[in-house]
Amino acid sequence: MRILMLLSAVFATFCNASYDYYRLPRSIKPQHYNLRIMTHLENPKRLIFTGDVEIMLRIFQSTNNITLHAGPGLNIAEGSTRLQLTKYHCHELIEIKSMQRHSKYDFVILHLDQYLQRGQRYTLRLRFWSRLGHSMAGYYASSYLDNADDCGQQFMSVTQFEPADARTAFPCFDEPDFKATFNITLGHHSKYNALSNMPVLERIPICERQNWLWSIFKQTELMSTYLVAYSINNFHGYASQNYKGHVRFTTWARASAIEQCRYASELGPRIMSQFEKMIGIEYTLPKMDQLAVPDFSAGAMENWGLITYREASLFYAEDASSHLDKQHIATIIAHELAHQWFGNLVTMEWWNDLWLNEGFATYMATLAMEKMCCQWHAYKEDMLDNVLAVLNTDAYFNTRPIHQAVSRASQISELFDAITYRKGAVLIRMMHMFIGDVAFHSGLHCYLSKHAYDNTRQADLWLALTEAAHEYDSIPLDLQVQTVMDTWTLQKGIPLVQVKRHYLKKSATITQQRFLIIQEDDSYNQAEEHLDENPCWFVPISYATQCTYNSIATEPRAWLRCTAQHEPVPLLLQNLSGDDEWLILNIQVAAPYRINYDTDNWELISKTLHSSEYYRIHDMNRAQLLDDALALAWSGLMTYELTLELLTYVKQDSAYIPWRAALDQLNSIYRIIRYTDDFEEFQHFMHHLLSPIYCYLDGMQKYGDNRHHVAHKTLIAKWACHLSLRDCVERALKYYHRWFICSQPDSMNPVPVNLRSVVYCTAMQHGDGEDWNFLWHRYRNSSLASEQRLILFALGCTEKVFLLQRYLRIVYHEQSFIRKQDASLIFGAIVRSEVGFGVARDFYFQNFKLLQKYYNANTHELIALLNLIAQHSSSLEDYKQLKTFIDGHQLVLKQSSSRSLLRALEQAKANVLWRQHKLPEFARQLAMCNCD
Ligand SMILES: [Zn+2]
Repeated sequence: MRILMLLSAVFATFCNASYDYYRLPRSIKPQHYNLRIMTHLENPKRLIFTGDVEIMLRIFQSTNNITLHAGPGLNIAEGSTRLQLTKYHCHELIEIKSMQRHSKYDFVILHLDQYLQRGQRYTLRLRFWSRLGHSMAGYYASSYLDNADDCGQQFMSVTQFEPADARTAFPCFDEPDFKATFNITLGHHSKYNALSNMPVLERIPICERQNWLWSIFKQTELMSTYLVAYSINNFHGYASQNYKGHVRFTTWARASAIEQCRYASELGPRIMSQFEKMIGIEYTLPKMDQLAVPDFSAGAMENWGLITYREASLFYAEDASSHLDKQHIATIIAHELAHQWFGNLVTMEWWNDLWLNEGFATYMATLAMEKMCCQWHAYKEDMLDNVLAVLNTDAYFNTRPIHQAVSRASQISELFDAITYRKGAVLIRMMHMFIGDVAFHSGLHCYLSKHAYDNTRQADLWLALTEAAHEYDSIPLDLQVQTVMDTWTLQKGIPLVQVKRHYLKKSATITQQRFLIIQEDDSYNQAEEHLDENPCWFVPISYATQCTYNSIATEPRAWLRCTAQHEPVPLLLQNLSGDDEWLILNIQVAAPYRINYDTDNWELISKTLHSSEYYRIHDMNRAQLLDDALALAWSGLMTYELTLELLTYVKQDSAYIPWRAALDQLNSIYRIIRYTDDFEEFQHFMHHLLSPIYCYLDGMQKYGDNRHHVAHKTLIAKWACHLSLRDCVERALKYYHRWFICSQPDSMNPVPVNLRSVVYCTAMQHGDGEDWNFLWHRYRNSSLASEQRLILFALGCTEKVFLLQRYLRIVYHEQSFIRKQDASLIFGAIVRSEVGFGVARDFYFQNFKLLQKYYNANTHELIALLNLIAQHSSSLEDYKQLKTFIDGHQLVLKQSSSRSLLRALEQAKANVLWRQHKLPEFARQLAMCNCD
């Protein structure tokens, strides 16, 4: 990469008109920006901004042109008065002969009449203007109605620059390693507030505009352009009280919702203190603002000193938000605050290492939550949400390595996926486990201190952690963290570790291969890359036998290794127990790999699980055993006879984690079997499985909330109602009816908050048009974001085709008052039901042009919906229809990577293959279970 960049820079100097490389040349680097933006929000028909920027440049290699970024909608004023280049500290004007725009890479190339001298500094001045967009990217406008002000529709403006949209707001060197300082000044009408990364220094009147102000902000630290943020709004601010720290903490929201910021404003500073303690480095800015934005595409964005949130990710109302909302809000705040160190202070050099940002933010948020709110079991939830999820998503042939080369901005956007977030967090968790707590925290502290205000590659992290691990003696001296981690970050997929015990010799042979969800079908194995011909991972192996079992001994007792030629080396474990005791690997699921044992060992495990001693196996391991068994059986690597025998133990298990793992896997089966004659048998089996735990958790009774894990109670109630368990459905409908007959349903809701998701969905599933309309009006009248999302999802649970069709037409109407940010949630709610699948698919296929327009031709969003269709496809006919559609729309869809399309087809194919080849065996075994 380095050689290529150097050549490109030289090439640019001499053949500037033909510069065709996606990275900017390194001959010039920005040091500082003076950025001034004036925002016009007064006229809804003319929402625009104008601006000027002075960029102080340092020349590292003599050149007669300057290349920087400007997005397609950004107009730059040409002409000598507006486009100036001067030598720093003197007024020698250098003429810009011409300006060239290069749309493929968003470049602006300025051709000069003389060479800029190496080592010298220059100032470039540019003026620009653009419209405030509505696509929730760049510098955009968001609108809302606020009953507190009663002023009708109101507007605010806000930035969302990650990954590559700062260039659509001002001309800049928009790559993460071009760090610079920024002096930001915002011009606005005096009725608005102005916020940016730093605190306001002063506000001064704009002479030529009555009632207008310049808000001048303090200079930032050295930072990347994607973290620059500003907003003009007339929100109210909620100052965090009782916070003794050195940071001024304020949460901002539209006036009528400001009370809902209390929880976020109390929690934010506490989490920040927790991170300062954990990391040993203080947050470096004097203030932190949290801003709730009515239209927001992601969950939140970690802009340095000005974190922006979707309203549902920040608002909490004591009497109307559920326990899960509270957990969700806390986790998101913790994720964004973790970024202030991991991403903002130390930033990846290029987007191929984005996982360093997101993996750390996700995992460090888990660690902080585990320490602060131990009753939430954040660490165990992390295992479910990330480790077990990755074992599933990364088992497709069409997956990708976590460290991924990218060039175009659209490819960078595609990186914000489950692999980056979840696998990133999982790999960091694995390192934490294998180098130990002390070495992990010491290594991180060194890494952050050494690279503060700078950029890194993953190798920099490996080095810091290797030094710490060797210092604390937590990995063998002949092993480097890089040797281990390269096999996990540069290679796609996850390993299946096979255990074959030699009972008489009291030993076991451990081998590895790549785990693929489709085993025997070779149609996906045509384009296999060279590295994958010999997949091999360095796998940390922790293990225990029945009598030596210690559920906290997570450190590796051995390593599965690879040769220099990348060949797997089998491992022999010795001195194990005899033939009447089981062997279990991967204590607390310390690393992301699937495990298949020999049949005798599985049976020994099953025997213990069915005994009263089952709890002696850690609940995370019980979860992995169920998850592995069901996944292995799906792929044909284990029999359903053995799998169902193991699974039925769960009836006696009262812990949440094993249940979630089992039900998540059973969901894949449910999606297919519901269309077949075997569904009744499945429903009978599931009632049998669920009834004891449903009763134990007090079913749909409100008072159970204080005694049990709320997530567990909600999960079981959801399944029970969905599979029409009588008590569940009756109680849900009773709750709904009580609400339905309330005289003031918008202020009085008798449905217990933690059961609302189940009650609303069940009421829609069993209700009619009148029930639907009632809920629809509650959505229209609600001002609580989390309640609104709950309702929008539940409205998709109806089984009335005409209602679903009408709902989709409302959502995707050009003037829809349902926010764009919620559309995919609704599509997902509809596609997942038996009736809704066909409705949603037909809508997508028949209205593709409309959808393209709705999503501004963002293929990333369009493919995400196709993936939902693929996930719920189950018949050969479904697969063929999907394939025909994709083949017919290659030109549009392939603007994103073809991998995501292949992945969608692979997922649909996996469902078809299971239905054809595995369903008969599964149904046979179900019938036998039901007879018992
Ligand atoms: Zn993040």
